[in-house]
Order: sequence, then structure tokens, then C-alpha cells
Amino acid sequence: MALDIETLKKMQAIDREIYALGVEKEEIPDRQEDMDDQLIEVTEKYEEMDCLLTTKKLRLSEKELELKEEDARFKQLEVKLPQVKTNREYKAIQSEQRMLEAEKEKLESIVLEMMDDVKVDEDAMAVVSAEKEAKEKEVAEQKALLDQRLLGIDAEVARLEAECKGFESQVAAPVLSVYKRIVMARSGSALSQIVNQACSMCQMSLTAQKLNEVMMEDELIQCDECSRILYLEKEDA
Ligand SMILES: [Zn+2]
Repeated sequence: MALDIETLKKMQAIDREIYALGVEKEEIPDRQEDMDDQLIEVTEKYEEMDCLLTTKKLRLSEKELELKEEDARFKQLEVKLPQVKTNREYKAIQSEQRMLEAEKEKLESIVLEMMDDVKVDEDAMAVVSAEKEAKEKEVAEQKALLDQRLLGIDAEVARLEAECKGFESQVAAPVLSVYKRIVMARSGSALSQIVNQACSMCQMSLTAQKLNEVMMEDELIQCDECSRILYLEKEDA
């Protein structure tokens, strides 16, 4: 029995490591998903801005075309002006020219405003584009690291399991089966040291009889509360 506990303690140290690695491994898909979400967020922002900018540029080119057409009409009138025969026609063309001139001015200022707006958006997009690129690079690097870590965890767990297996033959079969069951049920920790007459894992105080049984060391004693195998370090005894 005393020998079993010493061997179980060695197995326990290994099983705790295996459990911690298992927890780390389980968290990796969540971490990868988090990264994907971050990337989706910045990509959506970029695409939204890109879409808006495309629309603005389209509207700008429409206005520029309008301005060109007005300009062309104005030039046509300039050609027409010296050819008119009557004063009335002359005045009519001049009035139309004044009207066109006013419209052109209005359009020009609208076009300038739109150009400024597009420029502001283009600058903002350059920033978001750089952010997106940086995020893509970061996510790719982090994911590669996590993939590497996954392989590392698998290799480490395999090594630890083999190491633990090596101790199994040193433990009586019924003890081993209890130990294994508790390791599975209790997050990789099946043993609990008695500290201040209580189970150190669940803090349950132990009866004098329970303490006695543990000290006798002739059978496996489990905590009534958490079922872990109780043991005393020599200095506590
Ligand atoms: Zn307990």
C-alpha cells in the first residue's frame, strides 16, 4: 500500500500534466475561431468602405460628365453667337449662356466637394487596408503557431502516457482501476494530500477514524466528499 501511494503520486504528477495539456488543446479551436472573427470583422469593414467608395466615385464621374456636357453646350452657344441675325436671338443666347455659366459654377463646386469626400474616404481606406493586411499576417502566423502547438501537445501527451503506463505494472490492479476512474472523473487529479486533518482538494475535514485508516496504510482510503484517494506525507503523520 505505501509503495502504491508513492507510485500513484508519480502517476498523478504525470496525469495532471496530461490533463492540463488536454485543456489547452481543447481551447485551441476557440482561439482559432476568435482569430477568424477578428479577421472577418476587419474584412467586413474594408469591404463596406470599398463598396461605399465605389458608389461615391461613380456618382462623382456622373457629375463630372454632367459638367462636361454643360461645358459642351456652352461652347456650342459661343460658336452660334456670331452667326445670329437678330438682336433678339443674340440676347436669348446670351441669357442662356449666363444660365449655363451659373449651373456650371454650381456643378463645379459640387464636383470639388465630392472629390474632397472621395479623397477623405480613400485615405481612411488606406488605413483600413493596412490594418486588414496586418491582421491577415498576424492571424496566419498565430494559426501556424497553434497548429504547431497542437502537434507538440499530441507528442507530449503520447510521451507522458507512455511514461505513466510504465508505472501501472507497479500498482495492484484494483488500486489502479480506482485511481484511473477518479483521474477521469476529477479533472486529472485522483490523489489528495491530507493537510490539517482535511482533504486538501475539497477542504472536507476528516474524522479521526478516517485519519486512522489512512495512517494504517493497509487499504485505499477515499475522501467521502470528492472520492479522491487520501494520503499523508510522512511529516504530516
Ligand atoms: Zn476530498
